[in-house]
Amino acid sequence: MTPATYRGGAFVSAARRLGLEIVVGLDTPPGLASSRSPEILALDFKAPEEAVQRIVSFAREHPLQAVLSVDDSAVELAALASAALGLPCNAPDAAEAARDKYLMRRRMAAGGVPCPVFRHFPLTADPAAIAHIVSYPCVLKPLRLSGSRGVIRANTPEEFVAAFLRLKRIVLAEGFDEGSTGFLVEDFIPGFEVALEGLLTAGQLQVLALFDKPDPLDGPFFEETIYVTPSRLPAAVQEAIRSCVERAAASIGLREGPVHAELRVNEQGPWMLEIAGRSIGGLCSTILEFGAGMCLEELILRHALGRELPSLERRPEAAGVMMIPIPQAGILKGVSGIEEAKQVPLITGVEITAPLHNPLVPLPEGASYLGFIFARGESPAAVEEALRSAHRCLRFDIRRELPVLNAV
Ligand code: ADP
Ligand code: CA
Ligand code: CA
Ligand code: CA
Repeated sequence: MTPATYRGGAFVSAARRLGLEIVVGLDTPPGLASSRSPEILALDFKAPEEAVQRIVSFAREHPLQAVLSVDDSAVELAALASAALGLPCNAPDAAEAARDKYLMRRRMAAGGVPCPVFRHFPLTADPAAIAHIVSYPCVLKPLRLSGSRGVIRANTPEEFVAAFLRLKRIVLAEGFDEGSTGFLVEDFIPGFEVALEGLLTAGQLQVLALFDKPDPLDGPFFEETIYVTPSRLPAAVQEAIRSCVERAAASIGLREGPVHAELRVNEQGPWMLEIAGRSIGGLCSTILEFGAGMCLEELILRHALGRELPSLERRPEAAGVMMIPIPQAGILKGVSGIEEAKQVPLITGVEITAPLHNPLVPLPEGASYLGFIFARGESPAAVEEALRSAHRCLRFDIRRELPVLNAV
């Protein structure tokens, strides 16, 4: 099951390599949800009960062995459909808790998982009143967005009010209803950030890759850039991270399949930011390779089907990816230096994914990157340096948009 992102493509190719018959569930507006193609099932992800019914009736004619989500958008639907079909998957309430940051925090706190102090407020709240009861620095965040959209740090009550208004605009523009959703305010956790890619089997966590994020993420917005694996943190800290993620998964009830977790690490140890019941996003999985050349998607598909997993050892070299940050808002007119960037030693690929002549929207409103740079090499430090040199080769021609009447 996959939405129409390039993430879906990696799963479709992996399924072909495994000789699997697959059907792709696409999120389609209700009026259009009547695809005739046998390989595509048009579903309205916003109406999960109907979508589950469609999957169940499809499965009567074409029995399904597994239902899995390639990204956040269908994690809950995949769990509901699996439950309806009696297929192994995470429980629907666990899938929901992995998607809703307030549910996630409550379950983690109840399970004694180290996470920031948090408070939940409705979107209808008076920001000036809340600004005086929260502590600083803090982070405001929407409950159900991803990719750091709407996540804003505030150091003072004035910044809090401005951040609240900005977050509210973003959440309403996403179609959420003011009366039925809220936001979190968390203590800002200083420190170094890591991401853990893992696989759960009956609640046991196998680490597939631990990534350092060597660029500081101190706000006010949190744009991710470089991920490098293996981590350069001491073994004991890496083990503390693994154990923290395993406890976090247990606390929210995730037991099966891929997890992508993000943590902060400081003198006090690891702090859980979030855990998702899906694999790493964007094109980042390109750099991961296991056993004898198995990609992450193939590994996840095999696991979902209960097939034997040859080896979960990552290819022993260091690997890294840079999610190319958006330097400014505007229309992307051109990109140069791509060939030069590809020539940088250790660079294995440069993909510009942002379409030309379209607007680029930086965080906290935006939802995408300019593209990705990939590297492999002897050491994490060399990989990180290669990514930075390749990035310096790229030139982005971004024109400011003409002001639009009535624009805010
Ligand atoms: P999303 O689901 O949108 O990725 P996250 O909760 O992961 O939301 O937040 C995005 C980023 O914001 C994190 O990767 C981190 O850099 C930063 N962040 C979020 N919460 C905190 C916090 N409490 N303290 C410090 N940084 C935070
Ligand atoms: Ca997330
Ligand atoms: Ca995140
Ligand atoms: Ca992230």
